[in-house]
Amino acid sequence: MNITSLRAAIRAGGVVAFTGAGVSEESGIPTYRGTGGFWTSYDPDKYASIDYFQQDPSYFWAFFRDTRRFLIHEAKPNAAHKSLANLEELGLLDAVITQNIDGLHQAAGNKHVVELHGSYQKFSCTKCDAVYPLAHIEREIEKPLPPQCIECDSVIRPDIVFFGEMLPPDKLEKAYQLASQSKLILMIGSSLVVYPAAQVPHVAKQSGARLAIINLEPTPLDDFADWVFHEKAGIVLPELLEYLT
Ligand code: NAD
Ligand code: ZN
Repeated sequence: MNITSLRAAIRAGGVVAFTGAGVSEESGIPTYRGTGGFWTSYDPDKYASIDYFQQDPSYFWAFFRDTRRFLIHEAKPNAAHKSLANLEELGLLDAVITQNIDGLHQAAGNKHVVELHGSYQKFSCTKCDAVYPLAHIEREIEKPLPPQCIECDSVIRPDIVFFGEMLPPDKLEKAYQLASQSKLILMIGSSLVVYPAAQVPHVAKQSGARLAIINLEPTPLDDFADWVFHEKAGIVLPELLEYLT
């Protein structure tokens, strides 16, 4: 199946995108275990794990402090994000389900985004109900880490899903619902090994949707897919758009 038949499937409607770290790679954000850059200075098994956060929250907070300028203020949507925003604007994309916490789909202009793993826009106390916006946290991390709750002095955490934690049930439910109602799912930049998020394309396929995979490297779902492109998302997606508009 080629790109022309994929364009025809997109025109037929009922399209949902499912994205992972690979979609942001061309914005300069390394994928989870990607080599190079600041990522290698921090051990992902520590900064991304809930067990380690509970043991030593300062490790995550130092990672956050040292990388936030880049992640939150400097990374910009790339051609892949922009193409997905264009598709939604054209009425050809119902929603984006993402595993990313970088907010770049919204920055590109997508309105219907389900952030399965949360985002860096909101932070909360690990003990009481206090909630803090990013602006507050940016001031707090200039002080000794970790940032503490104003109400009860407990540690503050980001509203992201660490490894070892459950996904928010309402978001997972929404993602499964979108997937099961879709006719075509565009799976972009995910190794499809992190569950239960990786279940989303399975749900779509089992409900009769067709599956297109756009990922640099092979994935465990390639054999079940109707289209497979082992190329950069920032190349394939603009090419898809070219004759759709
Ligand atoms: P992943 O499981 O989403 O895998 C990344 C995949 O993207 C790899 O298979 C790689 O071949 C592919 N890829 C890399 N560059 C690409 C490109 N330019 N175009 C298309 N495909 C490309 O992510 P992971 O790295 O295994 O991380 C696991 C978890 O951590 C996921 O939940 C992930 O989304 C999250 N994470 C999020 C961010 C972010 O918010 N930007 C960054 C790192 C990790
Ligand atoms: Zn508190």
